[in-house]
Amino acid sequence: MKGRRPDDARWDVRSAGGIDPGRLERSLSLRVRRIGRGRYKVWGGREPHWVDLYTKRFPRCDCGDHLWRDRVCKHILAVLLREGDEHVIASLAELVDRYRRRRAPI
Ligand SMILES: [Zn+2]
Repeated sequence: MKGRRPDDARWDVRSAGGIDPGRLERSLSLRVRRIGRGRYKVWGGREPHWVDLYTKRFPRCDCGDHLWRDRVCKHILAVLLREGDEHVIASLAELVDRYRRRRAPI
């Protein structure tokens, strides 16, 4: 299906290492500002980071977690969440579901 948004390229999150629930949880407290086309500044951690989503297939971040561990870091997740990425939102739904079950009344 052709996307509604022109930049809605499909991003293969599994080949990128998958969405880690811990990173996803930490991404929720971050603030994201769109600076330019596909460029975002992300605050909330020890220092601000830049995320480049110029091509959605290869999101990039300048943090060590992404550069050295080659993982989908919390900054990228924060940006993808802001952009309404379906994989990230689905993972968030799983996370909420997990918490809900953990807190279920006896
Ligand atoms: Zn990062």
